[in-house]
Amino acid sequence: MPICVAVPHETVSGERRVALVPAVAEQLAKQGVEILLQAGAGAAAFYRDDEYTSARLTDDRTELLGAADILLTVQPLDEDAIGQLREGSIVIGFLHPHEHPERIAQMRERNITSFAVELIPRLSRAQSMDALSSQASIAGYKAALMAASRTARFFPMLTTAAGTIRPAKVLVIGVGVAGLQAIATARRLGAMVEAYDVRPETREQVESLGAKFVDVQVKAEGSGGYARELTEEEKQQEVAVLAEHVIQADAIISTAAVPGRPAPCIISADMVDRMKHGAVIIDLAAESGGNCELTVPGEAFGHERVMIYGPLNVPAMLPVHASEMYAKNLYNFLSLIIRDGKLDPDWDDEIVASSVLTHAGEIRHEPTRKAVEAAS
Ligand code: NAD
Repeated sequence: MPICVAVPHETVSGERRVALVPAVAEQLAKQGVEILLQAGAGAAAFYRDDEYTSARLTDDRTELLGAADILLTVQPLDEDAIGQLREGSIVIGFLHPHEHPERIAQMRERNITSFAVELIPRLSRAQSMDALSSQASIAGYKAALMAASRTARFFPMLTTAAGTIRPAKVLVIGVGVAGLQAIATARRLGAMVEAYDVRPETREQVESLGAKFVDVQVKAEGSGGYARELTEEEKQQEVAVLAEHVIQADAIISTAAVPGRPAPCIISADMVDRMKHGAVIIDLAAESGGNCELTVPGEAFGHERVMIYGPLNVPAMLPVHASEMYAKNLYNFLSLIIRDGKLDPDWDDEIVASSVLTHAGEIRHEPTRKAVEAAS
């Protein structure tokens, strides 16, 4: 019997991505895998059912969930869906374990093997599977476009018969994958860009994109290439230097995050009060609380004369390419799970071992195990 890789319709509100696009489904099918797709699963991302020529389609979600050897998803499955999976089957997707400890416990009880793509380590070898990066890059690009379209000013310098317009000043806070893409996009639109991060190695990356690095004299590298949370003293130092740059910006794109922690609050209400009229803040950290004290996740509103927007699930706003990139990430990850056409996860592989959440009736990811125990 060939391995059945199943792709359900996403059910989370506003989710327009699909975990498998037709071209990637075809590549998988060439390996002798059976693809089972819930009818209409790609529709919100503009992939029609008839484009999935190598897949079998079903309208019956229950049949699909029960037949899956491997289920590919974008958003975490709900408890109803987990309850319909076959014992011993595999789930791969964004699983947000800290938000849904009860679902992780349910997968453990049902003997489901689950891999959370957000736990794939940031190794060079894992770059082609790095869904956090592919989706963050989309978010950064879109954030720059949102900033350009919501600000009351031009981004580029314009020399016209009606005079010369100075380019907009854009400040990017947090220079991870999203921040770098935001810088590159704002530069392409002609803005003058400044950026800063607490990881010193980002200076070179910022400068290589033609932007100016703002040195706040705080160095806070954590483990695994991520930042650590700042001490109170460091926070004050950061704010003291940054405030001047915030006040002068026409647009701010903030992306600062620390894994497993609420987003650092960097832009105070007082700073916003002193910003230019018509300026805009696009707070990509809204999902984890926001980098601006005033951010309301998912909402756009005017505060005094500054527009503040904390968009949620930005990658879903570009569903065609977000799905394509995500599907390729999953395809590459599957090469560690399906070997010679058989289900055979390479448990000695660091990428497999780091991303597994539940397997053989156990929670294998230590922080998640502790969180589940604390919640139960
Ligand atoms: P992230 O989303 O966790 O955080 C975004 C940025 O916010 C980070 O650059 C972080 O340093 C910064 N930040 C945190 N607190 C801050 C503060 N108080 N002020 C300013 N900035 C703050 O990061 P990410 O985009 O997921 O990237 C995390 C790391 O992983 C980076 O080092 C990135 O280069 C690395 N990475 C490596 C690979 C690879 O080698 N395969 C792939 C992707 C990313």
